[in-house]
Amino acid sequence: MIAYTHFKCNQCGSDLDYAIGMHSLKCVSCGEVDPIEASPLDMYLAHDYKAAISDIDYFDPKTVSHELSCENCGAGFMLPANVHAEECPYCDLNVVVPVELSRKLKPDGVIPFEIHQHQAEKSFKSWIGGLWFAPSALKNKAIQAQGILGSYMPMWAFDAQVHSSYSGQRGDNYTTTVRVPTKVNGRTVMETRTVIKIKWRNKSGRVHNSFDDVITMGTTTLPVKFQNFLSDWDLFKTQNYNEKYLSGFRSELYQIGLPDAFNLAKDVMQRTIRATVRRDIGGDHQRINHINSEYQQVGFKLLLAPMWISAFNYNNKTYRYVINGQNGKAHGERPWSVYKIVGLVMLLLALGSVIFLFANQ
Ligand SMILES: [Zn+2]
Ligand SMILES: [Zn+2]
Repeated sequence: MIAYTHFKCNQCGSDLDYAIGMHSLKCVSCGEVDPIEASPLDMYLAHDYKAAISDIDYFDPKTVSHELSCENCGAGFMLPANVHAEECPYCDLNVVVPVELSRKLKPDGVIPFEIHQHQAEKSFKSWIGGLWFAPSALKNKAIQAQGILGSYMPMWAFDAQVHSSYSGQRGDNYTTTVRVPTKVNGRTVMETRTVIKIKWRNKSGRVHNSFDDVITMGTTTLPVKFQNFLSDWDLFKTQNYNEKYLSGFRSELYQIGLPDAFNLAKDVMQRTIRATVRRDIGGDHQRINHINSEYQQVGFKLLLAPMWISAFNYNNKTYRYVINGQNGKAHGERPWSVYKIVGLVMLLLALGSVIFLFANQ
């Protein structure tokens, strides 16, 4: 059995859970409030990536399931290998297991929840309700089927100075005239026309990009395609890691190790670098043949980000819906109803032919 932290009310002994939007713990029974002292994370903080990856432990996060014994109801339960905070499944007692038991890297910061569960539920319901082209049967089912789970998800934030050399071609438009044979009244005559052509020249050079807090996922619970959506955080509200923010929520340990996370970050950075190279090439058109990037002064930090997560099953497939727990923006996967789409296309075609008939009269 392992030791865990449980936040308990001094007045009545009930659970103290993190009170969303209040920077406090609050007793679920008597309402006693225990403020958390503000401690903003220094966003310039960054650990040295090179030094960190010399430690093999950062590559493959260990997967150990911990067995806990609930001090409230006495039940024993397993904490999943990727989770370090949760509620007892039998009595809702909040437990936070020290990260050090499973990971060498502790989160540096935590972005507190600001969106309440009832707001998240409303968001999910109106999203389902507004799904155009979704199979009708889905809507009723999905609304009742799933609850919504408040979870902190590990996210990596990378800094880097990137020097890139490139080779490519710059294309400039120019206008010229050409003589083309044209039929006029049955006779072929030569006509002069102005056309736009592109002159291509080889171009190579070097560009520099400075990256600050490029966010990538540390969890495999959500698919990587959610990453773009999940990188939009107001990081200035990040607090130094404190277990109190986790009380009453689920919190995940990172499953994507440091080198894999940095590869994801490089993909994100390359999109910006390619845009910089295009600007540097200039002209009306650009072709990029090759980019060679050197990543220097790479730094990172590990953050916990708040999310409300729901999912529903439809035709044996799982669709996920995620709400940013800080700003309430939402992103969901959705099924499409083939019948409804085909129906709309038929309708548009029918309308199109009616308009065509009128136009020709
Ligand atoms: Zn109390
Ligand atoms: Zn319990």
